[in-house]
Amino acid sequence: MIPSEPPPATLRLRLDRDALIANWRTMDEMSGAARAGAAVKADAYGIGVDFAVPALLEAGARDFLVAHWSEVPAVLAHAEASRIAVLHGVGSAAEARYALASGVIPVINSPRQAALWSAAGGGRCHLMVDTGINRLGLAPGALGDPEIAALDVDILMSHLASADEDTQQSRRQLALFEEAARMRPSRRLSLANSAGIALGADFAFDITRPGLSLYGGVARPELAGRIAQVARLEAAVLQVRELSAGDSVGYNACFTATRPMRAATVSIGYADGILRCHGADGALRYDGVDLPILGKISMDMIVVDCTAADTLREGDFVEIPYYLPEIARQTGLSQYELLTSLGLRFDRIR
Ligand SMILES: *Cc1c(COP(=O)(O)O)cnc(C)c1O
Repeated sequence: MIPSEPPPATLRLRLDRDALIANWRTMDEMSGAARAGAAVKADAYGIGVDFAVPALLEAGARDFLVAHWSEVPAVLAHAEASRIAVLHGVGSAAEARYALASGVIPVINSPRQAALWSAAGGGRCHLMVDTGINRLGLAPGALGDPEIAALDVDILMSHLASADEDTQQSRRQLALFEEAARMRPSRRLSLANSAGIALGADFAFDITRPGLSLYGGVARPELAGRIAQVARLEAAVLQVRELSAGDSVGYNACFTATRPMRAATVSIGYADGILRCHGADGALRYDGVDLPILGKISMDMIVVDCTAADTLREGDFVEIPYYLPEIARQTGLSQYELLTSLGLRFDRIR
């Protein structure tokens, strides 16, 4: 008979619940008089909704944001429907019906969405106004449209395009948002994401919307040292081999040994989110020793130089360094991409 559970995986995502709780509290405190919500879209940035939402609730978060309706059931298992917002809004009658039936609140982004919402029976909703990101949200000029005037708006929100940089765009968006708030009354106002929170009290309004920094991302330099790492990666050594000078490693033989060395094959690859751009200057770690990556990263395996780690044996777990700001600099990937590209084969260890 086949056991119902497969044996433990050879790769692990170690999740630090206390770090997640501390990060939310930091973002909430930095939000001043505003209350911090939590963006939990994309399975809480790859960390896992079932891990993140209960921890965020314990921290004190009550308001949760997802992008898609398909993401609602997982969050609804933990949080109150009326405190969950769907950022993509209602694009069809079916989505509007689902919103009404579930009690989850859509973020209306256009006159067409507003009309769909009202036609379905409508009720309380949020409203996204575009102040310069030109991605999703109502043009300020459409704030007076009859479909928009008919809405019962709880949170009027906008989204900052460049809060992670020092640029005038954030101030310009702030001014446009304040103007929109005067034109279209609502119960509450919301502008800041993680980086926006670090821009200061002017950006906080009533409710802030951190995502990245909850999960360990350092969205702006002001947050360095204040945000704790949440996810740590480990993978097992599948095989250790001796290489002679002239031996090459991996697809397309991109690395050739110039001297005898020991190499370890580790059970993690690009299918798990460790993309080939990690390879260039990347290293895994064992017992404080760097293990430089050799050759191309494969789908399921990475080969490293373990000459300096003479106690390393097959079956041992090595660490994949994943301090987000540093790995982002090294790979050219954003901290967001580093989190959301993590694959499904990890055992999640809490
Ligand atoms: C994803 C998202 C957030 C969270 O942004 P972070 O940069 O991850 O803090 C907030 N608001 C909106 C509209 C979003 O799409």
